[in-house]
Amino acid sequence: MNVKAFGAHAGDQPLQGLNITRRAPRAHDVQIDIAFCGVCHSDIHQVRGEWPGTLYPCVPGHEIVGRVSAIGAHVKDFKAGDLVGVGCIVDSCKQCEDCDEGLENYCDGMVGTYNSPTPDAPGHTLGGYSQNIVVHERFVLRISHPESQLAEVAPLLCAGITTYSPLRHWNAGPGKKVGVVGIGGLGHMGIKLAHAMGAHVVAFTTSESKREDAKALGADEVVVSRNLDEMAAHAKSFDLIVNTVAAPHNLDAFLALLKRDGTLTLVGAPSSPHPSPQVFNLIMKRRSLAGSMIGGIPETQEMLDFCAEHEIVADIELIRADQVNDAYERMLKGDIKYRFVIDNATLVA
Ligand code: NAP
Ligand code: ZN
Repeated sequence: MNVKAFGAHAGDQPLQGLNITRRAPRAHDVQIDIAFCGVCHSDIHQVRGEWPGTLYPCVPGHEIVGRVSAIGAHVKDFKAGDLVGVGCIVDSCKQCEDCDEGLENYCDGMVGTYNSPTPDAPGHTLGGYSQNIVVHERFVLRISHPESQLAEVAPLLCAGITTYSPLRHWNAGPGKKVGVVGIGGLGHMGIKLAHAMGAHVVAFTTSESKREDAKALGADEVVVSRNLDEMAAHAKSFDLIVNTVAAPHNLDAFLALLKRDGTLTLVGAPSSPHPSPQVFNLIMKRRSLAGSMIGGIPETQEMLDFCAEHEIVADIELIRADQVNDAYERMLKGDIKYRFVIDNATLVA
C-alpha cells in the first residue's frame, strides 16, 4: 500500500513529504491508521545522523496512536476500530531469554520502529510520521484513555515508558526521594509518574522559567542545577535520580546527591559521551551509575493502564506535519512545554 509520510533523504536536509509503501498485513499483523505521532528527541538524533548508522530515507516517529484498520488471519486480540498504540519496537526475535521475560527492548534482534533492517521496502523500518503502519500483534498496545485524549496519550509510548521503567525497576514509591533531571518530553513524564507512584520528587532543570511549571507537574521541590548552593542542599539524599538530558554534561554533580546505595540512571542518549565521573564519587557511598532503555511490551501496557487509572497524559503542542522542522529547532532551544505531537491527518491536507 502506498502512503504519505514525512522524512528526510539526508542528515543535512529538512524533512519533507514522501511517498512510502507498507506491506499487506501478514497472519499476525495489525494495520493501524495513525492519528497522532509524538516528536521525540531521538527522532532528531537519528534523522540528522547524530547517532551512527542512519539509513535514508529516514521517517522518524515512535510515539504512535491510532485505530486498527485491518488485521491478519490469526490475530485474535484486536479488531478494526480498536484504539491502539505502537512505541519504539515493532518486532524482536521472540525466542531469547529477554523476549521470554517480556523485555523485548533488550533483545539483540529488536526491530526498532524506524531505522532497523527489515525485508520490507526500502530495507529498513519507517516510523510514525506516516499515515499508517503494519506491526506484529505482539507489539501493539491497548489504549483505554478517553478518545478525546488520544493526542496527549501518544508521548506515553516512548517518553512515558522510558521514565516509567527505571522508576519501577529502582522502586520509586512512598518513602523514596527521586530526582528527575531535564524537564523536556521525557522529564515532564518522569515527574508526573514518580509523583503518582508516591515518591518525593525533585526536578532538576537548567531553565529558571520551568521552576513553577515543574511544581504543577508534580515536583515537590525544584532545583536549578546551575545554582551550586541549591545543589549542595540536596547532597547525599537521593535514592534514585533519572537523568534525561540530551547533551553531555558533568555527572559528578548528580552522583554527589545520591545517598549510600543510591542510583543515577541515564536515559538521555547524547551523541557524544559524558565526561567520565570521579571514581571516588561511586565508591565512597557504594553508588551505582546505570542506564535504561525504553521498556518491554508487558511493562508498556502496564504503564498505559497506570496512566489511564491515574488520569496521566502528556502536556503537548499539536502541530501539522509540515511544522516538524521548526519543531526540532524549538526543541533544541527548550522552547516546548513539553512534547510536540503531529496531527497525522495533515499529511494529506
Ligand atoms: P527534550 O524534550 O529535548 O528534553 C531534554 C531536556 O534536557 C531539555 O528540555 C532540557 O531540560 C535538558 N537539557 C539541559 N541541557 C541540555 C542541552 N544542552 N541540550 C539538550 N537538552 C538539555 O528531549 P527528550 O525527548 O525528553 O529526550 C531526552 C533524551 O533521551 C534524548 O537524548 C533522547 O534520545 C533520549 N531518549 C532515550 C531513550 C531510552 O530508551 N533511553 C528513549 C527516548 C529518548 P531543562 O530545560 O529542564 O534543563
Ligand atoms: Zn523516543
